[in-house]
Amino acid sequence: MKVVLIGTGSMHNEYNSASFLIDDDIVIDMPNGMCKNLYRVGIDPSTINYVLLTHFHGDHYFDVPFYLLRKSKDNNKKCKIYLSKDGIKKCKKLLIYAFKNPAKDVLKTVKPSFIIDDKFKVNSYKVEKVLVDHGRQKPCYGYIFDSGKFKVGFSGDTTLCDNLKYMCEVCSCVFLDCMFIKGTNKHMGIDFLEELVNKYPKVKFYPVHMENDTREKLKELNLKNVFVCDDYTKIEIK
Ligand SMILES: [Zn+2]
Ligand SMILES: [Zn+2]
Repeated sequence: MKVVLIGTGSMHNEYNSASFLIDDDIVIDMPNGMCKNLYRVGIDPSTINYVLLTHFHGDHYFDVPFYLLRKSKDNNKKCKIYLSKDGIKKCKKLLIYAFKNPAKDVLKTVKPSFIIDDKFKVNSYKVEKVLVDHGRQKPCYGYIFDSGKFKVGFSGDTTLCDNLKYMCEVCSCVFLDCMFIKGTNKHMGIDFLEELVNKYPKVKFYPVHMENDTREKLKELNLKNVFVCDDYTKIEIK
């Protein structure tokens, strides 16, 4: 599996909003600026066939209209969007706000499949969608990819919760929210991450959604098995 950390920042700094590109045709979340950021790594957004959305805060899905519009102009119309049920309306509404006149034609031409299943297959991966805890914002999901050989987790926005621990139990590699130095009831912090690092010493952790002071502190602490990456870092998982 090839993962590109497109965004490792929170929405309030110079780093891109949390988002991932997997094997060049799957993305997890489509935040503000995602399509531009894909172009920056040489990927035309029209080549993305699978979009997995974690929840419906703007910094996780506001580029969906740009993606659908681009897709409508390209021959490759394959477009599967995995999300929670409430998100289907939100994506369509956002497209209308962004591009009122072409919106209907875009939907007719692209015919995106909106899929709300908890378990599904994407390319050769079996994917499990797990509910995490992002405070009042409900539902918010994380995703576990199973290649048959290894499992990789993507947490979505979350505080420390049972399903995040489950993710750490079954995965060898976890990409997770670590927004703050001190965790809250909505987001992880370094204190909560340290708990996971101690409890799951075999897991490799890649924090994202980081505020700048959190990033600096994490680099300074240099915790075992915690890899603090910049935007556009490429990771091979075998
Ligand atoms: Zn959020
Ligand atoms: Zn967020």
